[in-house]
Amino acid sequence: MDSSARLPALSEFDLIARFFTRAPRHTTLAVGDDAALLSVSPGNDLAASTDMLVEGVHFFADVDSQALGHKALAVNLSDLAAMGARPRWAILALALPDADVQWLEGFSRGFFALADKHGVDLIGGDTTRGPRNICVQIMGEVGRGKALRRDGAKIGDDIWVSGQLGDAAAAVAHRRGELNLEQAALDRCRIRLDWPTPRIALGLELSTLAHSAIDVSDGLLGDLGHICERSGVGAKVEYAAVPCSADLQAMRDQVHGRCAILAGGDDYELCFTAAPERGDAIESLAATLDLALTRIGRIVEGNAIVVIDAAGQPLLLKDQGFDHFR
Ligand code: ADP
Ligand code: MG
Repeated sequence: MDSSARLPALSEFDLIARFFTRAPRHTTLAVGDDAALLSVSPGNDLAASTDMLVEGVHFFADVDSQALGHKALAVNLSDLAAMGARPRWAILALALPDADVQWLEGFSRGFFALADKHGVDLIGGDTTRGPRNICVQIMGEVGRGKALRRDGAKIGDDIWVSGQLGDAAAAVAHRRGELNLEQAALDRCRIRLDWPTPRIALGLELSTLAHSAIDVSDGLLGDLGHICERSGVGAKVEYAAVPCSADLQAMRDQVHGRCAILAGGDDYELCFTAAPERGDAIESLAATLDLALTRIGRIVEGNAIVVIDAAGQPLLLKDQGFDHFR
């Protein structure tokens, strides 16, 4: 590597050794060689995905580095959750403006706390100087033929969503001056933005219950749209059924609240479809996991998503900045 690209003060190799080298638990060869070696359990497929976080685009420059370490891994784990895969390995590519020890301590603490929780080995990466940019590749295992995919939705399926939607987007909108949350509500919404919870246990359980799934990273309607597109179906969503926090409840019938709930993004909940006769099993799963699972609509023929209000009338989303949804 060109030495001018190396980080000053703390050498690139010291930095990797100090912050990103941990004894692997289930990997043949991890950090330290030209490539890592890993073996997938017999009868499983390797599920692999990557997500990049760019300063100024995906996170604010002043965000706490421990939260950022958590979120960089969490958004990737969320993709595996949506596949019904068990997380196993991560690769971390970092561009950093400088070797700020305090920043690195926080970042690695946040990253490894979540990695430990889900049994993920960090098996390698790349470290270079540049505008702050964090790219994680995640890999996991899923029984062959058992993966939850976007293309499995069937007409008549119930549409479900986990947790509550909109808080993270409300925190971003507040920061941009587009809406005004009172301090306590802002603090709660910020936690949802900065510390998302990947729904791994839910994804693993859904692989035998659901027909299709996606994680809600770009907003419910956009992400449900991907399921519809891949499955060749349409969807009817009851707006009144879409779950949100008490903080958003007060604004759910205003444009900003509606935007945050239906199209905000950064929720990292799972949206999935399942046959109606699975309803009881899904409700008891919600109790077991202590996680709200809410039926919000139905998969229908066609290729459009229709959102209806409490009176059964279609919501006119086009007038409210939802133009890019079908
Ligand atoms: P190479 O020159 O072969 O690309 P590097 O010098 O970039 O290797 O990295 C040395 C070792 O450290 C490799 O095993 C690589 O996977 C690992 N590594 C580099 N950066 C990170 C990081 N941020 N987190 C974890 N492992 C890393
Ligand atoms: Mg390298």
